[in-house]
Amino acid sequence: MIEINKVSKWYGSFKVLTDCTTSVKKGEVVVVCGPSGSGKSTLIKTVNMLEPFQEGTIMVDGISVGAKGTDLPKLRSRVGMVFQNFELFPHLTITENLTLAQIKVLGRSKEEATVKGLGLLDRVGLKAQAAKYPGQLSGGQQQRVAIARALSMDPICMLFDEPTSALDPEMVNEVLDVMVELAQEGMTMMCVTHEMGFARKVADRVIFMDQGNIVEDCTKEDFFGTPRSERAQLFLSKIL
Ligand code: ADP
Ligand code: MG
Repeated sequence: MIEINKVSKWYGSFKVLTDCTTSVKKGEVVVVCGPSGSGKSTLIKTVNMLEPFQEGTIMVDGISVGAKGTDLPKLRSRVGMVFQNFELFPHLTITENLTLAQIKVLGRSKEEATVKGLGLLDRVGLKAQAAKYPGQLSGGQQQRVAIARALSMDPICMLFDEPTSALDPEMVNEVLDVMVELAQEGMTMMCVTHEMGFARKVADRVIFMDQGNIVEDCTKEDFFGTPRSERAQLFLSKIL
């Protein structure tokens, strides 16, 4: 579903990604972890070209994201993305947040979009919040809305960039529970997270990044058992 091949990226003269190669198969859940500043967000954002890259190729469902002529709005509409800070539209109600892109990008009718959006809102346990504004919801609730909004577009895969790291601790699990459910239903997922309980539960593979390099790309059993690199061993010893 996602094939990242020898991707390098520079910010000016600073090389933020070096020769990154990995892939995510249909239905696979891949967790990306590593120290702050190692390039995790940059890598995951290259998948839908929120971050352009200078070298290498990325294919999503057979489409080359970096190629000239690729319909990026269409591609992005099929790749769900959930960010650390929710990124809901603050001036729109939860229902409007859930229906806007369905109507504008997918051309669904307001009725159809509303039925779909409210169904997903129910699924993340927030049906009663439909008429509220994001600011009236807790962080955990806002993030669940953000996940429902991404799902409303019928994505072929989902990208998560530290979806729980801006949350108060007591709200982390309500978001992880939704992600675990998605994973168990077979959604293809690439998740930047340091929630190793989540990784242990549902990850098929774990990628560890350091200074713009993918230094580990292995099964979770290998990662938690015997990571090859010293850097990953040190990282694990600090967070577990
Ligand atoms: P991570 O998500 O692993 O914390 P990032 O991908 O956000 O890492 O950042 C990787 C590196 O790139 C960091 O050193 C960061 O300072 C740098 N960086 C990120 N965004 C920019 C930018 N827009 N311009 C210059 N440097 C950036
Ligand atoms: Mg980041």
